[in-house]
Amino acid sequence: MSRTLQIVEVAARDGLQNESVLVSTADKIALIERMIEAGVRRFEVGSFVNPKRVPQMADTPEVIAALPDRADVSYIGLCLNLKGVERAARSRDGNKRGVDEAGCVTVASDSFGKANQAQTSAESVAENIAMLALATRAGLVPQVTIAVAFGCPFEKAVPPQRVLDIARRLAEAGPVEIAVADTIGVAVPGQVRDLIGALREQLPAEIRLRAHFHDTRATGVANAWAAWEAGADILDASLGGLGGCPFAPGATGNVATEDLVYLFERSGVPTGIDLDRAIAVNRWFASVMGKPLPSSVGRAGGF
Ligand code: ZN
Repeated sequence: MSRTLQIVEVAARDGLQNESVLVSTADKIALIERMIEAGVRRFEVGSFVNPKRVPQMADTPEVIAALPDRADVSYIGLCLNLKGVERAARSRDGNKRGVDEAGCVTVASDSFGKANQAQTSAESVAENIAMLALATRAGLVPQVTIAVAFGCPFEKAVPPQRVLDIARRLAEAGPVEIAVADTIGVAVPGQVRDLIGALREQLPAEIRLRAHFHDTRATGVANAWAAWEAGADILDASLGGLGGCPFAPGATGNVATEDLVYLFERSGVPTGIDLDRAIAVNRWFASVMGKPLPSSVGRAGGF
């Protein structure tokens, strides 16, 4: 059977959390609805973090309460600690729609961990193992992302062996999916091929691999292709290439959803997403943001 690509649309969370414009809850919901129409079936919808630290995510409970109630769509709430998983579980209290997945996040470097979540890498791995267990008990889909897996803004190079060791430890906690994130956009395709290839070789086959890239140094799309070729069937992307990280100095947008749809569909890899519709959503959302969005295909159109 030929392989496909699943795109997780992260514009409503990673895409917006570093923007100075505060996007309304209604516009976030409209963005998700329009991307469902375009064919997206998995979304990062918000983050269970301190609203004082990330004001753009302060309306996460309101966004979750207003999500379209679709059985064929999966919603991810980002969880940085056990409290986050508890909040994700509570979003489903009283038969509410809530989120489907606890998107747990651990870190591969001590310095980034301390800046982002006041934890060393080892402390965050230990907490994530408990978070995955809690998510499973609560009926949430347990999955986990290893942040700064390709490089750290403070420590620079992150040894691939360290990422592999973290992934193997996490795998024992029963996640359905493990992701590696290039949080600050420093990865290059050769590095991506080697790390994803090693993860695919060493992790149990039933654990899906996802990758998360920022296009900070214009390697995002090349990295995405390298990751897919090496065995990652799922990629995060953000409509229009919106995005950044408030705790990763200099990080710019995520790899753009439209750019990936163009690249993969024209290479014969189905994504389930309609390019023209995605570009139309880009045009609408640019008017919401009051500026053109950075995606190349969004600017140039399809072919
Ligand atoms: Zn990111």
